[in-house]
This record gives sequence, structure tokens and C-alpha cells, in this order.
Amino acid sequence: MPIFEYECARCGLVSSHVVMGSKRRRERLGCPQCKSARMRRVMSSFAVVESEASRLSSFDASRPRDDSFYRDSRNVGLWAKKRAKEMGVDLGPKFEATVEKARSGRLIKEMT
Ligand SMILES: [Zn+2]
Repeated sequence: MPIFEYECARCGLVSSHVVMGSKRRRERLGCPQCKSARMRRVMSSFAVVESEASRLSSFDASRPRDDSFYRDSRNVGLWAKKRAKEMGVDLGPKFEATVEKARSGRLIKEMT
């Protein structure tokens, strides 16, 4: 029986759901806490270290992120990369360098 974990887009609660059969049934999933139907599937292996590729693929650029997201330096530049990928834009090596700077905190110092 397939069990997937879903994150509520409203309150952020992650819950496990047994998903069977039709897409229609899947859409009826709701958050057990706030009853919101806006559920996003998440990978259940959050504890393991993900590669950047998998971080990118599981990263939803359309969702706003709170401060804790940006406190993880590995997430810096992820949003821009995701958007660029979606738009088919090649950001090039200069962007990579900027991201590396941002991740090490140097960019913030340069801007102030
Ligand atoms: Zn919820």
C-alpha cells in the first residue's frame, strides 16, 4: 500500500496518507490539523542529505519561504535556479559564483 507524506500549504503540518486508485481520490486529501485541501507531496526522507539536484526538484518556487528557509545557506540561490530552470534560462557560471558568494555571506557584506 503506497503511503505518501504530504505537507499542508496552510499550516505546514506533514502527515502521512495512504494513496490508492484514482486521481480524484488523491485530490480529496486534507490536512488533519486545519482541514485545508492544499496539500503538497513531500519526500519522506528529509533526514538524509539530499543532493542539490533533488533539492531543486522537490523545491517549490511558487511557495513563499520563511526566515528559517534562508538561514540554511544551502537554500540560497535555489529559488532563482529553479525559476531559471522552469523558464529554460541558462544562468551561466557568473550566477554560480554569485550564489557561492551569497552562501558564504560575502554578497551581503558587499551590498552593505
Ligand atoms: Zn494544515
